[in-house]
Amino acid sequence: MKILVANIGSTSLKWRLFDFSNPAGQLLHKGGFERVTDYALAISDCLAQIKAAGHIANESDLAGVGFKTVIAKNVSGCVRLDERVLGAMEAYNGLAPAHNPPYLTGIRLFGQRMPGVPLVGLFETAFYQFAPEAMMRYAVPQTWSDIGIRRWGFHGASHKFIAERSAELLGREDVAERVRNLYMDGGKSSVKEPALRVISCHLGGTSSITGIRNGLAIGNSLGMSPQSGLPHNNRVGDLDAEAIPYAVKTLGITLAEAQRQLTKESGLQGLSGLSNDIRDITSAANQGNANAKLALDVFVASARHWIGSYFFEMGGAEAIVFTAGIGENRVELRAAICANLEGLGIELDSALNASTRAAEGFISQAHSRVKLLVIPTNEELVVAREVSRLLRSEVRTQTA
Ligand code: AMP
Repeated sequence: MKILVANIGSTSLKWRLFDFSNPAGQLLHKGGFERVTDYALAISDCLAQIKAAGHIANESDLAGVGFKTVIAKNVSGCVRLDERVLGAMEAYNGLAPAHNPPYLTGIRLFGQRMPGVPLVGLFETAFYQFAPEAMMRYAVPQTWSDIGIRRWGFHGASHKFIAERSAELLGREDVAERVRNLYMDGGKSSVKEPALRVISCHLGGTSSITGIRNGLAIGNSLGMSPQSGLPHNNRVGDLDAEAIPYAVKTLGITLAEAQRQLTKESGLQGLSGLSNDIRDITSAANQGNANAKLALDVFVASARHWIGSYFFEMGGAEAIVFTAGIGENRVELRAAICANLEGLGIELDSALNASTRAAEGFISQAHSRVKLLVIPTNEELVVAREVSRLLRSEVRTQTA
C-alpha cells in the first residue's frame, strides 16, 4: 500500500511517499517545490519524479493521497475529502486564510488528476475532538461560539505522534495502541491504571503545548487560530482582545494593518526587533542585546505558563516531551524551561540535555519523578499512517 502525503503551502508543494506493506510505514521518496505559481504543473512534476524513481508506474498504484488539512466546519478526524468536506473547509477559509484556500486548490487538482485514488485529510484539529468542552470554549456569547469562535487547537498530527511515541518509550503499549486507533474508535479502547499524563511541547516556527491524558489531548495552547498561545516566529501569540481596537485607534492604523503587524511583525521578530529565528536571537542575546534576551525570556515564560497549566489540570505528569525545531535543538531553552522545578519532581540532566540534539532520548535525571524527553516529530508519517488505517478499515468494512 503506497501513500503519498502532499503538504500544500500558499506557494509550495512538498511531498513524501510511504510504503505500508508493514504497518509502521517506510519512507520511499520525498521532494518539494517552492515558489509554486501553477499547482497543476507542480503536481504533474511531483508524480513524474515519483515515477522516474521507480516507485509507481501509474497514479492508480497509489492507494491514497493524504493531506494535513487544517480546519473545516463541523468536520474533523481523518476523513475522505469529498465535496461535503471540501465545502466545510471552504466555510472556514476565514479562520485559516493562509492554509485552507491553497489546500482546496491542491486537493481539487489531485482529484482531477487521479479520479480513482482516494484523497484523505487528517485535520490538525482532530486530536482535540475528545477534549473536555470546558478546556475548549471561550467565554463568549453563544452566537459567537456558533460561528466557530472557540479553541480548536492545531498541530494535531505532531502532538498525536508524540502521544504515541512517548507512550511506547514509557513502556505503555496500551496507551500507544489507544492513540493508534483514536480516529477509528474515538479513543474508546481501554487503558490500564495508573494514568499516563504527558505534556507535549512542539516548539518551532509555530509553537504549541498540549496536555495528553491516557493518549487523549485535553487542550492545546493554540486557540481559534494559529496566532494564539506562545509567541511564534513572527506572530503574536496570546493577546488581550481589547489590544486590537486600542492599537487601531491610538496608532491610527487600519484593522487590516493591525492584523498584518500581528501576523508578520510580532512574536519573536517583534520582541527582538532583529529576527524571527531563535538562532539569530540567541547569538544577539549572548552578545548582550537586551531585546533579544527579552524575546527569549518571554518565550520561556510563556512555555512554562502553558506547561504549568496542563500540569495542574492533570494533577501532575509522568513526562514532558520537547519536539520541533526549537524543542529538538535548543539545549539552553529546554534548560530554561525546566529550571527550578525540582519541587515538582522535574529534574533535567544537563549532560544528557546537552548531548541530545535532533535525536530521540531521555534528558531527565534517573530519579526525576517527571521524565523529560526529546522526540523528533514526524507529521507526514502520522498523516500517512492515518490514511492507511482509514483505507484498511474501509476495506474491512466492505468485506465484512
Ligand atoms: P521549525 O518550525 O520546527 O522548523 O522550527 C524553527 C525554529 O527552530 C527556528 O527558530 C530555528 O532557529 C530553530 N531550529 C531549527 N533547527 C535548528 C537547529 N538545527 N539548531 C538550532 N535551532 C534550530
